[in-house]
Amino acid sequence: MTKKICVLPGDGIGPEITAQAVRVLEALNLGFEMETALIGGAAVDAAGDPYPQATQKLAAEADAVLLGAVGGSKWDSLPREQRPERGLLGIRKHLNLFANLRPAVLYPELANASTLKPEIVAGLDILIVRELTGDIYFGQPRGIENRNDERFGFNTMHYSESEIRRIGRVAFEAAGKRNKKVCSVDKMNVLETMQLWRDVMNELAPEYPDVELSHMLVDNAAMQLVRAPLQFDVMVTGNMFGDILSDEASMLTGSIGMLPSASLDENNKGLYEPSHGSAPDIAGKNLANPLATILSAAMMLRYSFNLEEEAKRVENAVKNVLAQRLRTGDIFESGMTRVGTKQMGDAILAELGK
Ligand code: NAD
Repeated sequence: MTKKICVLPGDGIGPEITAQAVRVLEALNLGFEMETALIGGAAVDAAGDPYPQATQKLAAEADAVLLGAVGGSKWDSLPREQRPERGLLGIRKHLNLFANLRPAVLYPELANASTLKPEIVAGLDILIVRELTGDIYFGQPRGIENRNDERFGFNTMHYSESEIRRIGRVAFEAAGKRNKKVCSVDKMNVLETMQLWRDVMNELAPEYPDVELSHMLVDNAAMQLVRAPLQFDVMVTGNMFGDILSDEASMLTGSIGMLPSASLDENNKGLYEPSHGSAPDIAGKNLANPLATILSAAMMLRYSFNLEEEAKRVENAVKNVLAQRLRTGDIFESGMTRVGTKQMGDAILAELGK
């Protein structure tokens, strides 16, 4: 059956980078039906809403969504409800995207971009699986109240076993397609919710006999990520710990223009987007690195369409283009050939055509 992809370019560099990812998807000749709609500031300007009805309809009907980025100073003074970022939160909630997958891969050619010594990070290939809809970020009760003549702030951490099980399954299944190791990160020594997290992960493990499960406390995980990151394959964790650890892991690679992400629902329908923002400082200048968006399209092939071979083809094309010493400004080093957004897309297409 023809797969439908909803393309949401968004703001800033969004249109330039998604255009290159769309070219890549088209070049694979898989018969995808792609339709474009507005999100973020562009949607506010055109329809007065960062996630308009027409976009909601298209996103709901599609099998997967490819998004560029949203935001820019032009919209910063609008009321919170009308800001571009609301569009992003809106689509995540609307599509029930509970699993956020963020790979942190350091290509050998870019080893110098990391702030860590090359021998610590060379060969880095971690996938962080973060639960996205629960935890202390959404738990009730929450608030700031006056109690005993002073202000009192409170939030609630909670997870049900079904919420833990469904994110655990995403991690075990992803590890099954990779190096078959899951490290579950919790804080079970202090928090009851995290004791349940660990218990449920242990209960799930026998269903995935090929995958090795280990556990790590979050404080140690934060330390191990910078001390010896090559020990990790898939890390799975809750919303708050995942928020922090996924940023830490992504910065190990040092190149924001290279980092894709996926957010999945229970049927592996997903929203695929680069981890970076709309980079207004370089928008419209053919300077943006499109590789994070192209790698997000590769994740779409893998996770929503189960097209592992095609996903690898795209990832290998990225590796080969880097080996040819082609670089956009964000990853440029002396001795390399500087190219623009479109030329980087051309080079990937040329690789795919070989
Ligand atoms: P940013 O990620 O947009 O940019 C940070 C720096 O990285 C900038 O110097 C930018 O030029 C550079 N950069 C980012 N992506 C790049 C790429 N593909 N190629 C080359 N260089 C790249 O973060 P910011 O400047 O803090 O935010 C800018 C806007 O983006 C804000 O409005 C913010 O709210 C929004 N934002 C959106 C998302 C999203 O859509 N998911 C995420 C983060 C920030």
